[in-house]
Amino acid sequence: MKRPALIGALVLLLTGPPVFSQNGACPGTSAIAGSLAGTERQEVCDAAFRAEQRLARCGIKPRRPYFVELVPDVRNAVGNCIFGQFRAGEKDVAKVASPSATAALVAAIADDDPQSVLKRIPAAEFHNSLLVHEITHAIVHQNLSVPPCHAGHEYIAAVIQLDTMSDRSRRIYLDVFAGNSDYTTEMFNDIVLAMDPSRYAAAAYRHFQKPENGCPFLRRLLTTVDALPRLPE
Ligand SMILES: [Zn+2]
Repeated sequence: MKRPALIGALVLLLTGPPVFSQNGACPGTSAIAGSLAGTERQEVCDAAFRAEQRLARCGIKPRRPYFVELVPDVRNAVGNCIFGQFRAGEKDVAKVASPSATAALVAAIADDDPQSVLKRIPAAEFHNSLLVHEITHAIVHQNLSVPPCHAGHEYIAAVIQLDTMSDRSRRIYLDVFAGNSDYTTEMFNDIVLAMDPSRYAAAAYRHFQKPENGCPFLRRLLTTVDALPRLPE
């Protein structure tokens, strides 16, 4: 998927960090982090746990296992380094840049770029939010009953990423786009997304927060082909 425009959180609400199993599965989730060990695996399992918990509150659950990897770099189709990527296939794989690679990407953002707001969010929290973002893509993919579109995928990933962040970091992020991120439903399309993915993410969260949207709107994105406007192929 597109580069994640944003962010995530660190509050484990239930009984504490999951205990690891032998085959790399994160207990209590459908995540498999078999290539990771120690604190990296702990971080992935924590993120999977929180992403699944949040999506479950909207009635959205994984349908099968998905794999999570931390890699030295992630490249998009034109070779640019990006924060993360989800690929569906024989295996559903969410790849996220390692914490050090992520920190380097954030440091390279120009200070006059609105996305430089990411420099003001604690690095560990931001990295965790990237995991939540890509894991959300995996679970969305598993639940789509209509053809995918970037606009819908990124709407849900941004909402879950921001919603699982700390209140403080979410506020820092949203405040950067205050006053210019109130999109109508019709504005959430692939072109608007491509023009400014950071603002799109803030707008998605604000749209989701409105009483008439919320979880029912997220579920519509999974099941209704015209929930968002589709551009001609
Ligand atoms: Zn994404």
